[in-house]
Amino acid sequence: MNKDIATPIRTRGILEKYGFSFKKSLGQNFLIDTNILKKIVEFAGLTAETGAIEIGPGIGALTEQLARSSKKVVAFEIDQRLLPILAETLSPYENVKIIHQDVLKADVNKVIAEEFDGLSDLMVVANLPYYVTTPIIMRLLEEQLPIRGIVVMLQKEVADRISAKPGTKEYGSLSIAIQYYTEAEMVMVVPKTVFVPQPNVDSAVIRLTKRQAPRVVVKDEPFFFQITKASFAQRRKTLVNNLTSQLPDGKLKKNEILQALNVAGIDPSRRGETLSLEEFARLSDELYPYFS
Ligand code: SAM
Repeated sequence: MNKDIATPIRTRGILEKYGFSFKKSLGQNFLIDTNILKKIVEFAGLTAETGAIEIGPGIGALTEQLARSSKKVVAFEIDQRLLPILAETLSPYENVKIIHQDVLKADVNKVIAEEFDGLSDLMVVANLPYYVTTPIIMRLLEEQLPIRGIVVMLQKEVADRISAKPGTKEYGSLSIAIQYYTEAEMVMVVPKTVFVPQPNVDSAVIRLTKRQAPRVVVKDEPFFFQITKASFAQRRKTLVNNLTSQLPDGKLKKNEILQALNVAGIDPSRRGETLSLEEFARLSDELYPYFS
């Protein structure tokens, strides 16, 4: 087997050979611990028939582990300077394709259709650039990709919010948006010492397993998400106060909101952070007729 990329010595050698300098603005913190990488791959449950999609391969530390454990890897990398490095480090692996593109601008569905023809099990696995973790995850979910799930490293603080349960201080509109589409679990907390350069914040790995159908059925998805966002706008305010002040153009009158809360069986003095996904669904369905 080829020598692992993700050791401190090999990584330093590669970076020095190419005179590579890290760009903080691109969230470049590379992993130098093979054990952590192997665990990430295990959490993803890859088989020889899985197609893996990676975001930000860096110098190929995770890509190499994915290549060894899956049928094929397609990785999106924004930084052109990494392309010649990846061509060298990943040369032993014939099942890897690097796409030089900003993943936020890529047509991932099209890439999947072109690159993973015939593969029914697809997973996104990545050590995400921390400046764009939420937009990347939301985009992957909203695009309705034909994937089984997502296993990603990200800031622990964001992982806490994504996997939070109602009634906790981390629970908010991000928890709801992601738990609407997936079952979210934090599977590992990771120390700063396994990265070069070391990030300023703690990290964690989350696993998002896509639901066959969203957890709740709502009349109008964008309206449901609008209501959840408005409900958390000012955390110390009650639900009724947030909804009255946050919705645009005073479209919803206070008495209409009170009426909808009453029909949905929700006490108006509660705060957004205490409502379950099911309660938010009932509330947004009751409010929708007043809004449309
Ligand atoms: N996978 C490598 C590892 O674990 O060592 C590198 C991970 S590093 C945290 C994030 C990587 O994402 C960097 O290689 C960076 O250049 C790349 N990146 C940043 N923004 C990106 C974007 N919008 N689209 C694709 N790649 C991006």
